Amino acid sequence: MDDSNLTAAVSEALKNRKFLAELQKNLDEADLAVAKLQPVCKACGKCCNFAQAPHRLYASTGEIALLVAKNPPTTAPPLTCPYQQQDACENRKPRPLGCRTFFCEQHQQKPVTSLLQDVYEKSHAKITQLHAKYQIPYQYRELTQACGELNSCE
Ligand code: SF4
Ligand code: SF4
Repeated sequence: MDDSNLTAAVSEALKNRKFLAELQKNLDEADLAVAKLQPVCKACGKCCNFAQAPHRLYASTGEIALLVAKNPPTTAPPLTCPYQQQDACENRKPRPLGCRTFFCEQHQQKPVTSLLQDVYEKSHAKITQLHAKYQIPYQYRELTQACGELNSCE
């Protein structure tokens, strides 16, 4: 398989239920680690608005597969996550690791950013290992562009 072909890589991941189940478990564990840090979020949705935000969100093949498995992406303008409706995420359960571990600094009552980064790195290392274990082609893609690629191949 051509490892640069995101659609083929995601398709491979979608066929492997054990891989997706282990991946979801890893993401749920990351949520528990994040919850212990008690980060504050006012649910304004600004961090998901990549056309305005100063950052980008990257996700692996498997995370993208989980995200689109039950809810394929619709067409969206550039740098727009197709799962953001108004200010909310309409696909929270399978959302990628970066969505779970990002909290803007301005609302935090204690320094959690580097601890959140630690959660990200530990969980991302496990995600990389899972791709190797199940021989899923690993890609690491900017989320909105990846959704656009998958949408254009439907
Ligand atoms: S983390 Fe910050 S920017 Fe993102 S939704 Fe919460 S309050 Fe808004
Ligand atoms: S998947 Fe959900 S949480 Fe992640 S960027 Fe899109 S709207 Fe935000």
